[in-house]
Amino acid sequence: MISVAVYIKGEVEYYEKIKKEFSEKASDIQILDWSSALRGPDSIDYALVWMPPIGNLARLSSLKAVFSLSAGVDHIVARDPDWPAHLPLIRMAGEETGRLMTDYLLWACISVIRGSRGWALQQQKKLWKRNVITRSITDCTVGIMGLGQLGRYAAEHLSRCGFVVRGWSRSPKEIEGVKTFDGAAGMKAFLAGVDILICLLPHTPQTRNIISAQVLHALRPGAAFINVGRGEHVVENDLLSALNEGMLSAAVLDVFHHEPLPESSPLWSHPSVIVTPHVASQASVCARVNYLIGSIRRLERGERLEQAFDISQGY
Ligand code: NDP
Repeated sequence: MISVAVYIKGEVEYYEKIKKEFSEKASDIQILDWSSALRGPDSIDYALVWMPPIGNLARLSSLKAVFSLSAGVDHIVARDPDWPAHLPLIRMAGEETGRLMTDYLLWACISVIRGSRGWALQQQKKLWKRNVITRSITDCTVGIMGLGQLGRYAAEHLSRCGFVVRGWSRSPKEIEGVKTFDGAAGMKAFLAGVDILICLLPHTPQTRNIISAQVLHALRPGAAFINVGRGEHVVENDLLSALNEGMLSAAVLDVFHHEPLPESSPLWSHPSVIVTPHVASQASVCARVNYLIGSIRRLERGERLEQAFDISQGY
């Protein structure tokens, strides 16, 4: 029997769903809640976690690998100095994650082109005011920062939908229909002329605060910004200033420094900001469990997974 300990901060119901899905699909994999796992820490093969209590992973002495319940692993590596760095740390992935992220980005891009936030505010006031929009997706250059499993998928799809798409990553990339740029040297050219900037980077020391006044002012004046990466990528005061000065016309934000976004945040009521509660790409329990079972089987056969965190790169 393979034992998997699960910790999902604040989500008891979600744990039950995962456990049920595993029991229906893999009778040789036993799912344990975190407190049961800590009572027998030397019998746990895998941990599946979101924001695990600091120091706990190190107590599971027989672990073979750790699975993150999200594509990002910063909730483990940036919080827990004792996480077992010698073990494979596997990020959540799978086709559905890419599809859902791309759907969200398509919605967000069209929302900013159409001025949806303005319509919502008008509706609250029962105001019938027609803003005639002549710009279409084909006149719009979208710049995607981060061309990994999610960024590449989104770039290909947005390009097929008619957007002019360009992308930026650490290393060079070739993506059909997408102009690509890389590294610090390629950043200025990447940003110039972008109408909608999408951040789909992982959170690392190099990408923290990357969305600063300098970057926002390098876009086409009146551009929009969409953040689905992490809140830590953004210098929030710079973003608010760019919106208030009209350098930016709109922002769609799914991720924040503090989640849930505190009530006191000016972002909640800003007339040019759409806030969503970190939901851009939440794959179904079924898709996640299928991915996890497949990954566990591969690890048990001694295979290496391409979605493993690379400690030397920090993502
Ligand atoms: P990947 O690791 O597959 O891709 C990361 C991309 O970012 C790569 O293209 C990488 O470049 C690039 N990158 C990393 N560091 C730098 C840097 N310093 N300069 C330039 N480019 C850099 O990640 P995913 O696509 O799976 O996910 C990206 C992020 O999306 C996650 O880390 C998470 O924060 C966020 N996310 C948000 C969700 C939501 O619901 N809001 C859901 C899922 C993920 P290279 O290709 O050269 O390595």
